Amino acid sequence: MRNLIAAVISCYAITYPIMAAAQERPKVVATFSIIGDMARQVGGEGIDLTVLVGPNSDAHVYEPRPADAIALARADVVLSNGLMFEGFLTRLIEASGTDAQLVELSQGAQILDDPAGGHYHYSGDRAIFHAAPQDPHAWQSLANAQVYAENIADSLCQADAQGCDTYRGNAERYIRELQALDAEIREAIDAIPPERRTVVVAHNAFRYYQDAYGVTFLSPQGVSTESEASAADVAGLIRQIRETGAGAVFGENISDARLIQRIAAEAGLELAGTLYSDALSDPEGEAPDYIQMMRHNTRSITAALQPR
Ligand SMILES: [Zn+2]
Ligand SMILES: [Zn+2]
Repeated sequence: MRNLIAAVISCYAITYPIMAAAQERPKVVATFSIIGDMARQVGGEGIDLTVLVGPNSDAHVYEPRPADAIALARADVVLSNGLMFEGFLTRLIEASGTDAQLVELSQGAQILDDPAGGHYHYSGDRAIFHAAPQDPHAWQSLANAQVYAENIADSLCQADAQGCDTYRGNAERYIRELQALDAEIREAIDAIPPERRTVVVAHNAFRYYQDAYGVTFLSPQGVSTESEASAADVAGLIRQIRETGAGAVFGENISDARLIQRIAAEAGLELAGTLYSDALSDPEGEAPDYIQMMRHNTRSITAALQPR
């Protein structure tokens, strides 16, 4: 009997602090897979994390589910990219009635204006214009990713002062990894002759990567909102590919492959693999976290552009 009581007490002693800690963990919602991973790197076990838009899914065109409103209503912190990337978020925040701390992680990052006032997404041959006067894909430079990590640490510290030292420590460690990867990418791209550094993608999410690392990305431009990608658009791009000597055409994990296959065929180029722009891969895939995503994209680009 005494043993049983001792067992119950020790069991209680072990589980009680864990349960108490679990109840106090800040509830964090991240809008899509890439910033979900960054939140996990900085928050670690200290946060209770929900990611709305999962791997291989396009947050620009996401349709929220009822469970998302519930997650927002319960959240202490909502981490988003901002810059009109998550078109679904404003209405979802209103519908949920959340009083969470709302954080746009691109705040303070180096932001590029988009001279075209937006960019195109393609579904089959259909061009969908996504109006955004400032390019939202700011995480595609490692310097900006460091700002995202700092913003995450700031917001978690505000939500959970007790965990703050841990979040700051995690962020510092993560930022060192991001700095090392930044140097690795520069070195890899610098080894490619400058005249070979042009590639083709369907949806141009890579202007920050282009700006930071010196690879030029070409992509088709639809003629107007909701239009078909016309023969003229594709012909113009094919001409550009020939003029620049673009070396490779890439598919994307969030984009329909048909248009890019047509472009590759007309340009006489092979599809050189898949780049990850706006979403991670599945955990078993080639880009299960942000660091592996940026490394995978860089290795794919440098392998395809290597002089033969
Ligand atoms: Zn978009
Ligand atoms: Zn995008």
